[in-house]
Amino acid sequence: MRATGAFAASTALRRRHSLVILCYHGISLRDEHEWGGGLYLPPTAFRERLQFLRDWGANVLPLAEGIRRLQEDTLPPRSVVITFDDGFVDFHRHALPALQEFSFPATLYLTTWYSQYRLPVFNLMVNYLRWKSGDPEYMSRQAREKASLEMERQAKQDGLDPHQRDDLARALAVKAGIDYDDLLRNRMFQIMSPEEARECYQAGTDLQLHTHRHRTPVDRELFLREIQDNSAAIEAITGTRPLHFCYPSGVTDSAFLPWLREAGVQSATTCVHGLARRGSDPLLLPRYLDGTGTSELDFEAWLSGVR
Ligand SMILES: [Zn+2]
Repeated sequence: MRATGAFAASTALRRRHSLVILCYHGISLRDEHEWGGGLYLPPTAFRERLQFLRDWGANVLPLAEGIRRLQEDTLPPRSVVITFDDGFVDFHRHALPALQEFSFPATLYLTTWYSQYRLPVFNLMVNYLRWKSGDPEYMSRQAREKASLEMERQAKQDGLDPHQRDDLARALAVKAGIDYDDLLRNRMFQIMSPEEARECYQAGTDLQLHTHRHRTPVDRELFLREIQDNSAAIEAITGTRPLHFCYPSGVTDSAFLPWLREAGVQSATTCVHGLARRGSDPLLLPRYLDGTGTSELDFEAWLSGVR
């Protein structure tokens, strides 16, 4: 389709009526892209994506401007917004310098509970360790996810604090002959500290909502508390109130929409693939999830609107 000119025609048709919102999770500190390719890119591949956007003539806009201009129908051609979920240390280490090099704005949806600890996110670390161990029982993603969820459920039931959970992860590493201290030193699967998040903010990164504990309870009070705690932690870093939200784990529910409005949230992004259009509900904006499984041709198909 690219060879026949369909990409170019679609790009022209897209004009100012739709917005590509790109979604990233992590830029590998080591080999995370080999473990969770859907969510990770190695640093060189991320830089190549930014170079591709530059060469393609993308107008990379800040999220709030992109959404406002989408609604006003005043987007420049080839409009793109870059978003990152969670706020892992690798954003600070790899993504931010690359974004700065290209002068591209980005929004980081920051989950804040883990940022008070210098510990890896438990379920991700145990999942990674199972993969790293080479145990044939855990070679499938489903088997690892099931085992990680079960371990997390058990830890919760036993009332383990984050340090006790980390001891469990360490035991798993020791059993598999993996140097756990080395992973800790490298800050694998750790959410940025408030100081690191402040450095990102001061370097131009837009910090927005992703819930405090990375969960969306189907209970109005608990849901609102997630937003309030997350908002307070971000406001302590930036001095301004965040107004844009991203659903953790892409979980959406129609019950959330009035609660988000009640919390004063102006936009919310999902993990549903697609272009954000003028008629899209601002609280259910689709995005494109980029990772190592996405070829450059796929990437261009998203940008042009062909996909
Ligand atoms: Zn997330």
